[in-house]
Amino acid sequence: MSVTRPTVPLMFRRALLLQCAWCGDRPGFRRGWFRRYDSCQHCGLSVQRGHDGFELGAATINVMIMLATLVVAGGVSVVITYPDVAVTPLMLVLGVVALVLPVVLYPFSYTIWFATELLMDPPSDEWLARAVETISQIPASNA
Ligand SMILES: [Zn+2]
Repeated sequence: MSVTRPTVPLMFRRALLLQCAWCGDRPGFRRGWFRRYDSCQHCGLSVQRGHDGFELGAATINVMIMLATLVVAGGVSVVITYPDVAVTPLMLVLGVVALVLPVVLYPFSYTIWFATELLMDPPSDEWLARAVETISQIPASNA
């Protein structure tokens, strides 16, 4: 199996479509909304690749998107309703958004962080060869 190295915009487009940023396979390493495989089921590329803290990076992406959304939504709401800002309804709506948005963003935060890691540390030819080796050892019933 040979996968050509994707461009940076292509990796992030794939991440936003919940595909593997490297090979474009959907679902890639996703097993469901809250579960994932440790490696892509198509290209075999591991999300860890010898690094610790993948989940921390994904959680950081999730929090950054959620906080940016709250700041922009809150700011726009205040500007639109100024000087009669309805503080209580605004806080309730933003509170609900703060609870729901991380759940909605959960799989996106993993795929976006995977693309970011591939951008910062592209896999070596050795890692790609190891990934192909790994995927060829997975029984067909698990793929
Ligand atoms: Zn893949």
